[in-house]
Amino acid sequence: MNEPRKLFVKSFGCQMNVYDSRRMADTLAPQGYVETSAADDADLVILNTCDIREKAAEKVYSELGRVRRLKETAAAEGRRVVIAVAGCVAQAEGAEIIRRAPAVDLVFGPQSYHRLPQLLARAEREGKAVDTEFPLDDKFDHLAAPSSATIRARGVSAFVTVQEGCDKFCTFCVVPYTRGSEVSRPVRKILAEIERLAQAGVREVTLIGQNVNAYHGEGSNGRPRSLAQLLEEVSTIDDIDRLRYTTSHPRDMDDDLIAAHRDLPKLMPQLHLPVQSGSDRILAAMNRGHTREDYIDICARLRGARPDLALTSDFIVGFPGESEEDFAATLELVRKIGFSGAFSFKYSARPGTPGAEMSDQIDEDIKSERLQRLQAEIDRQREAFNHRCLSRTFDVLFEKPGRHGGQLVGRSPYLQPVQVSAPASLLGAVAAVTITEVASNSLFGALAQAPAREPDLLGAGA
Ligand code: SAM
Ligand code: SF4
Repeated sequence: MNEPRKLFVKSFGCQMNVYDSRRMADTLAPQGYVETSAADDADLVILNTCDIREKAAEKVYSELGRVRRLKETAAAEGRRVVIAVAGCVAQAEGAEIIRRAPAVDLVFGPQSYHRLPQLLARAEREGKAVDTEFPLDDKFDHLAAPSSATIRARGVSAFVTVQEGCDKFCTFCVVPYTRGSEVSRPVRKILAEIERLAQAGVREVTLIGQNVNAYHGEGSNGRPRSLAQLLEEVSTIDDIDRLRYTTSHPRDMDDDLIAAHRDLPKLMPQLHLPVQSGSDRILAAMNRGHTREDYIDICARLRGARPDLALTSDFIVGFPGESEEDFAATLELVRKIGFSGAFSFKYSARPGTPGAEMSDQIDEDIKSERLQRLQAEIDRQREAFNHRCLSRTFDVLFEKPGRHGGQLVGRSPYLQPVQVSAPASLLGAVAAVTITEVASNSLFGALAQAPAREPDLLGAGA
């Protein structure tokens, strides 16, 4: 038998890339590839890239410098290492990557990863291969399923892509160009994938998509089903205890989805709902299709449906034309809503997007200063939220052993990591925990005597 070949995949960026990387590894497993966590041991290195901000894209080139040296060392030992660049930078830059980094053998976009075995064969035959097409066939139909052992090794919480791409064209964003237009997977295929995960021990599933709440996949009656309907169907799978979904757009937060937060006990009380800015003028320039008031109204209705809902968001500071007054409106919105956390970024002009062509670009120094002020407010809210959890009892899903013996780390319903002294037999199980200590971003707890009770108004404004 041939020696197994070793595969090293490095994911940059979002959860969709983490999911894609796993599916690439699954697709290569029948070809004899075994994953390794050591790049210098690998026969095939795949960098699964992110193009969302300039910094993310540039990281790929510095990583390619390191990988090139690995390839040279291996070649000196008589061993061939194949270097592949996948994901959104591959889609955006195509053959340019090989021009800038000639050590790269293969470049392929997010819609081609099911063709990986053929592409590798082509790179072997022709020296180099580039594939950035948007094929008509459904890549999910051609992907190999992971084995039960692989699923177990990946843990009790899993991502499942249900929707891909985006038709919204926010003026700052490359996603519609790199991931293509919105496509939803049929309900039947998603349920089959989740059932397989559940049989192998997965207890929590996060449905993911660039625009997950725009989901409109085909249902069993041949008609489109909404994300609320999909969540309802997934929640009937017995062994799945917890459900989440990300990332949502405020425009697609419909009444049914809001009601799902009230009606589906398995749906966790945490929602990532990016708003980007608190200024109507900037929201319009970003082509977000919602106002500040719309966002406030949606959050109020969500909290009406699920009073302990913890909200997180994304913000961009220094979008072209953002005045101090616009930025103040963002800070004011943050104070009004009260988040349990948020990601915030300096605007990064992406080639090919309308934002990059706008004339009133903001100075880097101003962006940095605004980012600092926004992050200080968000940090304050995160800590306040964490402190409100002190002495509360809620369910924790134990995911892995802790740093110290006799300790496990799990996740609260609000997605915070919680460290608990607990027996290893609880790994993969949900148990009630009382929070005994809060240290900045970490919660510590003890197994509770009484079952968990829904905490009151954890999600209320800071
Ligand atoms: N689809 C989601 C939405 O509509 O909010 C998010 C997609 S994007 C992968 C994740 C985040 O990256 C965005 O919410 C935004 O805050 C940030 N982002 C996207 N383009 C950016 C840019 N050009 N500069 C800075 N941040 C950006
Ligand atoms: Fe990008 Fe906007 Fe689409 Fe989100 S909704 S992926 S930010 S274009």
